[in-house]
Amino acid sequence: MTNQSRTSSESNTCKWCDKTFMSERTLSAHMCIKKRRVADKDLTHTRLAFRVFQMFYELNTSANKPKSQEDFVKSQYYDGFVKFGRSCITNEYLNPEQFAEWLIKNGKKLADWSKDSLYDEYLLTYVKKEPGMKALERTIIYLSKWAEEHECDWQDYFSKVSTSRAVYDLRSAKISPWMLYLCETGDELLTRFSTEQVTMIQHIIDATFWMKLFANNKEEVVDVKGACKIAGI
Ligand SMILES: [Zn+2]
Repeated sequence: MTNQSRTSSESNTCKWCDKTFMSERTLSAHMCIKKRRVADKDLTHTRLAFRVFQMFYELNTSANKPKSQEDFVKSQYYDGFVKFGRSCITNEYLNPEQFAEWLIKNGKKLADWSKDSLYDEYLLTYVKKEPGMKALERTIIYLSKWAEEHECDWQDYFSKVSTSRAVYDLRSAKISPWMLYLCETGDELLTRFSTEQVTMIQHIIDATFWMKLFANNKEEVVDVKGACKIAGI
């Protein structure tokens, strides 16, 4: 009798918070912080948070066994990683995993990972290193989305986009300077910006940097220009 009741109470114990329940039914209806975390494990931002959590330990420790979902749920840093995952998805950050790798390698504190200023810093290094054809491909995908929203041709972006939207697009690197400077219609946008707007995108479109980069990568410039011409932009 004693044995039996002990067995049944053990089997009705929540493995996450160690609370014991009268029956299986009350246990399954029970919810605690860690059990909630398990239930959330397939949400887009928590999946991203888990991958980044694993990456964090891979890059910072010599352990060869990857961290498990259980390690993640039990971690004191769970909330920090999930907050980061959420901000990546909500703000549609470019390559969140690469961003996370950059944060880890540069020793940025987890508590700061969701700050806009860090993303801006990362974005600038990303945009300046991205190969031209890749930048072009990515920009065109974005332009198609823009065209759908505005019911016009994506090739009309530089002549038709509002300058405030263009400032936002350039600052968030949706539009790469590879395209802005090398396609035939990019100048139409550049001439429409106000002085104040130019100040806001100066760090991204930094002409000195880009002209030097283009001069050092002549073949890539030819490829990008050619692709733009074929696409009619
Ligand atoms: Zn529990």
